[in-house]
Amino acid sequence: MALVVMKFGGSSVADADKMRLVASKIASKKKSGNKIVAVVSAPGDTTDDLLKMAEKISPNPPAREMDVLLSTGEMMSIALLAMALDAMGESVISLTGPQAGIFADLQHRQAKIKKIIPHKIHKLLNKNHIVIIAGFQASNANGDITTLGRGGSDLTAVALAAALKADACEIYSDVEGVFTTDPRIVKEARKMDYLSYNEMLEMACSGAQVLQSRSVEVAKKFNVMINARGTFSDDAGTIIASEEMIKKLSGRKKMEAMIVSGITFDKDQVKFTIVDLPDTPGVAARIFNDLAKINVNVDMIIQSAAVDKKNDISFTVVESDMKKTQIELDKIASEFNATRVECDDQVAKVSVVGVGMRTNPGVAAMAFEILAKSGVNIEMISTSDIKISCVIDEVDTMKAVEALHKGFKLSKSHKA
Ligand code: ADP
Ligand code: ASP
Ligand code: MG
Repeated sequence: MALVVMKFGGSSVADADKMRLVASKIASKKKSGNKIVAVVSAPGDTTDDLLKMAEKISPNPPAREMDVLLSTGEMMSIALLAMALDAMGESVISLTGPQAGIFADLQHRQAKIKKIIPHKIHKLLNKNHIVIIAGFQASNANGDITTLGRGGSDLTAVALAAALKADACEIYSDVEGVFTTDPRIVKEARKMDYLSYNEMLEMACSGAQVLQSRSVEVAKKFNVMINARGTFSDDAGTIIASEEMIKKLSGRKKMEAMIVSGITFDKDQVKFTIVDLPDTPGVAARIFNDLAKINVNVDMIIQSAAVDKKNDISFTVVESDMKKTQIELDKIASEFNATRVECDDQVAKVSVVGVGMRTNPGVAAMAFEILAKSGVNIEMISTSDIKISCVIDEVDTMKAVEALHKGFKLSKSHKA
């Protein structure tokens, strides 16, 4: 008997009809002879709504209390889904993250799973129950409830699949799998059958929200094969696995033929520039150390060439870190006698991702040419061995994504 972890995101359990549909999908997988652990997210926009409620109450709510609040969304889902399955005559039990034996570190809002003690889950599965588990939550050494960062139910599912040594980890959402770009924005986007962990990681980190990036990291670490697929479709979805496994499953040639697999975009970006810093050793170290101390994650960095022993440093951060970055940089700028700190939140990052770039040096040049021909100005560039990212004016985002998607022949009509 196979053990299958099935995860359903917020859009899949947004109302009673969708909840019943999810219940029938779970029941039918159980009837085909599988043991089922189902992980669910909060219904629809519940987590965003809870965040807004907290904002109305306090400008700076304690992280511990935020976690108590945010974890309630997933608890609604597990209870309702268990009721739907019970009404269908299934034997089912719901568990919160702590009840399921999911333990995390002491951080709040971004807790990391430390261990899973799956005794209770195994016991219930052996009694032939369907086990429904709340995603996105865990308990810590203080006995407090914590949450795993936005999109964290994906992480719950992958971590459970690893801990339970599940035979399959299926992550269901409102799209049929992972596409060459966001299919809700670009209608010509094509669903991919296979994607390597590294490509999925780069896509998730650069804006493709279909899978949480940390869940992909954990899948890669424990070699959990993910099947990303649609709740409202019977399509086989996308397999995310190691490059070796994909070569085995798909045939070697196909993998090598893919130079670029996807285009991503992220509008949640802010560019800071500190103008006229002294061109002396230790300045950059000081800036980025101070930002690291206040937990600001810096993405792209550019330092201009020195003129008159002064230079500018520009970098990007996510919008939620804008305020604290501004306060920190104002202090640093006055200490170093910099002329000013500029902040631009009207920027976006577009990225081109693909393992084939490692062996095809022309990809960056082609990306820049496509953007130039579309009249899109590039403000910053960063590269890894399988990704090229450009910071551009936010108003040009769609133009850039569509041009790159078309230019790299990723549309449905180009399918090999
Ligand atoms: P869930 O609520 O099920 O966790 P998410 O909203 O987190 O689902 O992720 C699914 C969404 O990801 C889709 O609705 C789609 O708009 C978006 N998305 C962005 N980029 C991609 C991509 N490359 N492929 C598929 N979906 C994408
Ligand atoms: N409900 C949480 C969120 O919206 C977790 C998740 O959906 O995965 O981020
Ligand atoms: Mg999600």
